[in-house]
Order: sequence, then C-alpha cells, then structure tokens
Amino acid sequence: MVSTEPTTHDAIVVGAGFAGLYAVHVLRDRRHMQVIGFDAAGDVGGTWYWNRYPGARVDIESVHYSYSFDDELQQEWHWTERFPAQAEILSYLEHVADRYDLRRSFRFNTRVVSLTWDDTDAMWTATTSAGTTHRARFVISGAGTLSVPKEPEFPGVEDFAGEVLMTGNWPHHEVSFEGKRVGIIGVGSSGIQAISEIAKTAGHLTVLQRTPNYATPIGNYPTRPDEEAAEKADYRAIRDASRNHFLGVPYSEVQPSALAVSPEERRRVFDDRWNRGGFRLFIDSFGDILFDKAANDTVASYIRERIRERVHDPAKAELLAPEGYPYGTKRPPLETDYYEAYNRPNVDLVDVKGNPIAAVTPTGVRLADGTEHDFDMLILATGFDACTGPLLAMNITGRGGLRLADHWADGPQTYLGLMAAGFPNLFMITGPQSPSVLYNMPLAIEDHVDFTVAALDHLRERGLDVIEPEPSAEAAWVAHTNELAEATLLPDSPTSWYMGNNIPGKPRRVLVYLGGAPAYRAKCDEVVAAGYEGFTLSSASRVFA
Ligand code: FAD
Ligand code: NAP
Repeated sequence: MVSTEPTTHDAIVVGAGFAGLYAVHVLRDRRHMQVIGFDAAGDVGGTWYWNRYPGARVDIESVHYSYSFDDELQQEWHWTERFPAQAEILSYLEHVADRYDLRRSFRFNTRVVSLTWDDTDAMWTATTSAGTTHRARFVISGAGTLSVPKEPEFPGVEDFAGEVLMTGNWPHHEVSFEGKRVGIIGVGSSGIQAISEIAKTAGHLTVLQRTPNYATPIGNYPTRPDEEAAEKADYRAIRDASRNHFLGVPYSEVQPSALAVSPEERRRVFDDRWNRGGFRLFIDSFGDILFDKAANDTVASYIRERIRERVHDPAKAELLAPEGYPYGTKRPPLETDYYEAYNRPNVDLVDVKGNPIAAVTPTGVRLADGTEHDFDMLILATGFDACTGPLLAMNITGRGGLRLADHWADGPQTYLGLMAAGFPNLFMITGPQSPSVLYNMPLAIEDHVDFTVAALDHLRERGLDVIEPEPSAEAAWVAHTNELAEATLLPDSPTSWYMGNNIPGKPRRVLVYLGGAPAYRAKCDEVVAAGYEGFTLSSASRVFA
C-alpha cells in the first residue's frame, strides 16, 4: 500500500543524472540536509541511462566531460577512449553513485508529476507517479535539458507493424539489425551516430533526411597513457582553463576573424582543426564564424567540400551537403564513418524536405507524393523538447497559483537561467537562458549546484529561507539573452532546438545564454558580491506571520 501521508524533507531533487547526483551529494553529505531524489528511470545516469542507441557517445573529451569536484575521483577514474561511448559514461556515473552512496537517497521508476508551492507555509509539494506526496522548502531540478524526446508527429505511427524505436528512449535489450529493412528519421547528432553504426550490420538502411547537417570528424582514439598521465598531473590547471573558455574545454588557438587571413592560411587552420577533431573547427578556428555570415560562409563551404570528397555518389553527396543555413546554428554533430556509410550498397538516402513524410503506414513510411518505403523497423532520431520541456512536464505551480506553463507561454523567462519570478526556492540546474548546453555540461552543472548551495548558505546565515528573483531582474535577463542571440546567426536557422523551433507550436525564443561561460560566471559572481542582487530574500516565518 502506498502511503498518502506527505513526507517532509529539506530538499527535493529531481533527476539522477550528472546534476541530480551532484546535488544530492552536496546537499546531503556536505550540508547535512535531509534530501529525497526522484528519477523516472530505473537507475542513475540520466542521458546516459536513456540514450543507449548504437554509436551513442560523448562529443566533448571525457577528461573534460566529467566531474571536477573531487580530485580523488578524477585521478582514480580511467577513460579507455578520448570520446567514450554511452556504456562507459554510464559506468562512470554508476561508480559515482556507489562511491558517494547516492542511490539510497533516490526513488527510481518514480516520476514527479506535479510541483506546487504553498504560500501559507512556504513549502513545495511534489506528487509522484507512485502516488506519494512529498513536501520540502527547496526543490532542485536536475530534470535535464535533453530528456523529453520529441513526440512523434507522424500520423499512423502507432499502427506500424514492425518495431518503432526512439534514440532518446532506447530499449535495454540487444537490438539486432541483421537482415532487417531499417528506416531512420533524423540526422541530428543522435541520428548521425546511429546511422554510422547501424549501416554496418543492417540488411538495408534507409535514411529519411529533412535538413542535411554539418557533421565533422570527432577524432576519437584509445586513451594514450602518456597523455592521460600528463593531464592527471595538471588537472587543476586544465579545469581552470576549461572554466574560462566559452565551451568549457581548454581550447586556446582561436583566431579573431576568418576574413582577416589569406585563403591559404584559412585553409591551413580549417584543415588543422578538421584533422584534430572535437569542436575545434567550430569553436577554436575563427572567432567570428557564429557572428558574421561571410566568415561563416568560408567554413560552411569548406565542410561541403570535405563531404563531397568522402561520398562517392555525386547525387548523394549533393543531398548531404548542407546549404541555406549557417554552420553552427544547429548544434554541430561530430562523427566517425558517417559519410562513408553512404558508400555502402545497403544504405539509401531519401530527401524528405521537398517531399515530406505524410504518414507511417503498417508497412513503412508514405511520402507526400505517395511513394512508399517498406521497413521492418523504424527509428526516430527526431530530437527533444529541449530545455523547457522537462520543466514544463512537471506541472509546476508557483506563488498565487501561477502556472509555469502560463508564465512561459511566450517562451522561458528566468533570472540567470536558474530561477523564475513567482517560483521561490525552485532551482533549475542548467535551466533555460543559462549557458547549459553551450557549455561542457558537467562543469555547467557543478557551477549551478555550487551557486545554489552558496545561496542556501547565505540564507541560513541570515536566518532566512526563501529566495526568488525580482520580476525586473528576470525581465532584464530575458532581454539580455535575446539581445545576445540577435547578435549571432542563430535566429537564421530554420529549425534548431537552440531556438525552440524544432517543436511545432513551441515559442521561438533562444533557450541558451550565448555570452559564454566566463561572462556568465562573472555575472553570477557580481550578483553574489552585491548581496544576491536581483533576488528577494525573505523568511518563511515572516511570510505567513
Ligand atoms: P539528464 O542527464 O538529462 O538527467 C535528467 C534525469 O531527470 C533523467 O534521468 C530523467 O529521467 C529525470 N527526470 C526528468 N524529469 C523527471 C520527472 N518529472 N520526474 C522524475 N525524473 C525526471 N552534453 C555535453 O556537454 N557533451 C556531450 O557530449 C553530450 N552528449 C550528449 C549526448 C546525448 C545523446 C544527449 C541526449 C545529450 C548529450 N549531452 C551532452 C547533454 C547531456 O544531456 C548533459 O551532458 C548531461 O548528461 C545532463 O545531465 P543532467 O543531470 O542535467 O540531465
Ligand atoms: P536534433 O539535433 O534536434 O535532430 C533531430 C533530427 O530529426 C533533425 O535531423 C530533424 O530535421 C529531424 N526531424 C525532426 N522532426 C522531423 C520530421 N517531422 N520529419 C523529418 N525529420 C524530422 O536531435 P538529436 O539528434 O537527438 O540531438 C539533440 C541534441 O542532443 C544534440 O544537438 C546534442 O546537444 C545532444 N546529442 C549529443 C550527442 C553527442 O555527440 N555527444 C549525440 C546525440 C545528441 P530538421 O533538422 O529538418 O528539423
């Protein structure tokens, strides 16, 4: 029997990914708070629990894409590859859960289905899919930014006779593609990784592509012992350099402008970054490619040229070479063997831009012109309701019955991407309008959790326990994030989850802070130094006295 009596805690944490695990560790083990965590998943891992599709791997080197909060942890953990695959990152997070005994604070297979603030006693009440209710003064959302897969928007998908699989919610059992006719929709980072691997074993693979992507080589290789030793010896400096970099990785060779150098020098830089892999071409080549269309054109045409070199069939190469939107305005995917997959006789590419998918039928997919493609298996790599989706799915109601869904009807409104006016004591780790997904996420998460804990310390030291943004501070932050986005080429992308326009009906507003992690951290430091400028701090007892 499930007890309907609410249990009371100091803090509720949602999610057991990088964010929730670290939040529970800090609040429970360092601040001795009574904390309860929930995850809809069966275990820890977050992204790396759900996204088990073939080829899933990180695209920021794991020496950087990992926790920095405990030097012993970063010294003892050994990554086998520069860019490890999903299973290894999941093992790492399982190790973290074991090492700090975190699972005992979580209820798994339990979704938070509503969160309601009570003005009379300044407490949040969470209700869960298990039918339980829990009260706490503070809620820390580690619900993720890319944790709600986009709803399939194809009529008839439920009538498909074969298996429908989603990259963002991949089954735990082994999936065989041998001898099967596999269709895949979507060529974002997930689709590109999955296509590269599935092509190797599928009987036949048909890629249904709407917008071709600017994928560039990841440059993965097995860990080199000398490199690992040098990095571990210098980890503190590496982390400092990462935190002072726009993307949260210690790249340091960016030149100011692609237009200020000769074509030969530009080509030399592009070749160098292409060959070395990672996000170097995007972030560590020329500083103006995300801001100046002419600069962007130089790198976009370079990538198109490299794609054409790799794809043997000129018709396929033309379809794969992206035109009409700037490089980097959709998150750039990194790949291994992606373009070579199209040289295999078992791989077909179908353009569904001019001739869109009309419906899924019991036997496959029908396009607008009536063409049918028959499949045994259909894979949806169609992305996520990013950043706001996981928060809105929690049915959050704040002060005076204000629903977050109404507050955000025209797009997210936050202060520092961490809190929203009217929603006291609700901390959104890597929330909308923070650097989040434009930053190396484990570091972004640590920064936000550390900011949250410092704010709780500040309250406690003053006998206070309620913090919330002032509406004017929130409005200024929203205006600032929009202004930053307008100065870039991001709004030029026809569909990009950065702008929310990958989801029909979702308001088009930039979901990330584009000023870079160092500027963001400086702003947070200023806010703290000015006594939490832009926040109202109060006492729950005074609220209802
Ligand atoms: P998540 O890992 O998304 O965890 C959120 C958890 O909250 C999930 O387990 C979910 O089940 C749970 N949850 C959500 N809502 C509820 C609810 N209402 N009730 C209960 N539980 C709930 N970032 C990078 O920086 N570099 C990369 O290379 C990179 N690769 C990625 C690859 C993939 C395939 C994807 C999808 C994302 C990738 N990301 C990458 C972004 C990635 O999401 C973050 O790096 C990081 O894992 C986020 O951690 P998190 O704890 O904030 O959220
Ligand atoms: P995504 O980048 O949003 O890509 C979704 C793909 O599905 C796009 O090609 C999109 O086409 C297509 N699509 C959506 N609806 C469609 C429709 N109705 N008809 C035809 N095509 C449709 O999603 P994602 O690939 O899952 O990646 C999301 C993010 O997760 C990434 O940007 C990245 O941040 C993270 N990620 C990282 C890695 C990694 O390498 N570490 C791997 C996977 C994911 P359009 O472009 O035309 O809309």
